[in-house]
Amino acid sequence: MLIGIDLGTTNSLVACFRNGTAEIIPNRLGENLTPSVVSVDSKGTVYVGRSAKERAMLHPLESASVFKRSMGTDREYKLGDWTLRAEELSSLVLRSLKEDAESYLGEPVTDAIISVPAYFNDLQRKATKRAGELAGLNVVRIINEPTAAAIAHGMAAEHDARYLVFDLGGGTFDVSVLELYQPIMEVHAIAGDNFIGGEDFTDVLYGLFLQCAGAAPESLDLKTRSEVRKSAEACKCAFSDKDEITMCCAIRGQMHIMQLTLEEYERACAPLLDRLRKPIERSLKDAGVSLQQIDQIVLVGGATKSPIVRRFVTKLFGRIPCFGVNPDEAVALGAALQCGMRSRDKEIQEVVLTDVCPFTLGTEVMVDNGAFEEPGHYLPIIERNTVIPVSRTETVCTAHDDQTRITVKILQGESRMSQNNLLLGELSVPVPAGPKGKEAVDITYTYDVNSLLEVEVFVHSSRLRRKILIQGNQSRLSQEEAEKRMEALQYLKQNPRDEEPNRLVLLRGERLYEEATGETRRAIDRAMLEFDRALKKQDRGQIQRAREKLTQFLDEIEHGQ
Ligand code: ADP
Ligand code: MG
Repeated sequence: MLIGIDLGTTNSLVACFRNGTAEIIPNRLGENLTPSVVSVDSKGTVYVGRSAKERAMLHPLESASVFKRSMGTDREYKLGDWTLRAEELSSLVLRSLKEDAESYLGEPVTDAIISVPAYFNDLQRKATKRAGELAGLNVVRIINEPTAAAIAHGMAAEHDARYLVFDLGGGTFDVSVLELYQPIMEVHAIAGDNFIGGEDFTDVLYGLFLQCAGAAPESLDLKTRSEVRKSAEACKCAFSDKDEITMCCAIRGQMHIMQLTLEEYERACAPLLDRLRKPIERSLKDAGVSLQQIDQIVLVGGATKSPIVRRFVTKLFGRIPCFGVNPDEAVALGAALQCGMRSRDKEIQEVVLTDVCPFTLGTEVMVDNGAFEEPGHYLPIIERNTVIPVSRTETVCTAHDDQTRITVKILQGESRMSQNNLLLGELSVPVPAGPKGKEAVDITYTYDVNSLLEVEVFVHSSRLRRKILIQGNQSRLSQEEAEKRMEALQYLKQNPRDEEPNRLVLLRGERLYEEATGETRRAIDRAMLEFDRALKKQDRGQIQRAREKLTQFLDEIEHGQ
């Protein structure tokens, strides 16, 4: 079975294509969104999703979130005694989604289509693919999130149209200009900012509250900070149906209250909103279209549910964006539709996808500056926003007399000087010694539909051919190290699926106990003991009733409901 996965910075979703439609698969808690949070206890039990988010409040040093931002880098996260990289943490999220899908569908899941932000570079895409493999999934395709979202919308549309997809998630912002001429969906341009998202809008509220409470963020312990942040998040979302919020939180035992109107919040977010303009302008410019030529604006990502973001988009484009598909689910549904197209489902009209490469790929050369040959210049080979798959060749010559090797630097980026671009790899070939400029090599870059780059160098005189597939940071990790890491991952055992709801309510109880004082604390303790007793009896019905009772009690404490 093939599933579609939206592996988000903040939330992940899994979906499939069945009985002629794409459907979201609920997780073990019956929810569609699984927070991309991982927590590991000292015994090596892994928590993923809401229980991990809950556990992160109590054990921040054993938990990790927002790790998608470090995908494809060597950054290591310490979770207690465990050290994991972003792709390994992601593989734990994928493993959990895979299990949820298997349990829901009642059959084994072997293959997946995983979405990534359009702005993800080559290393990040490969790391995502490896994360899937570490989770036991054969990743048959990597798809751009905005493309997936556009498919989710485009399938419903009857007419050809030009779309601008505005995706504001937890930590990334992607803008894409796409065009549907049935049956072809073509991506014209993509732009974005990997470092802005809904979390920054939470930070604004967090900052305002601490300012109001007269507390410096550095003076607070981790737990207080995460409590205030959690409350800021809830208040931010509350703006979706209220024009004014009241935020209350205890700092060093003292309750602080802040009242804020939507207008005040909007003013405080102005610098953030301003940062959203640039990628929009760039994508339109790269696509060669004006704002007026866009037929539909598609909102994607949880942060576009915010009224201030909606107001900003409406004002900027002078019209109302379309809300046809739930912004939380569009990407996963699109990935599932892609699954349907792949398995050539008769119910679904095929949409041919074309994608573009998000960055320019090139190499380093010397350039005659009038006086001498200046090294370190960038020679673009595949320009950004070229439709993929694509293959391009450039010919370069030896730069010195008696040079015996030509080393090709494989670079990604837009800067004129190669040192400012990202070095993806190097490929070196021997050439016969001779005068400068005599020996020539062809450098061919091939970018496939999954945005995986293959580089081939061909020496004219010796007819020698050498090829590499850029393997991302795998090449920096020795085989032995990679195997060790695989083994370490095997030790991490997922909390059993059916225990998840009980585990979640217990973790939540523990957290609320820590946050509370006095009589409330004692009441929580009593309620938790009662639940413990029910658990010991091992009667399913009784456990469920006790869990519902405890959940309701904790809801009353947390939200006063
Ligand atoms: P990602 O794609 O990065 O995983 P999502 O699309 O799930 O992220 O969006 C998560 C972000 O959306 C979070 O920052 C969350 O606070 C924000 N969000 C969710 N609901 C709302 C809402 N009603 N109002 C404002 N922001 C929201
Ligand atoms: Mg997303």
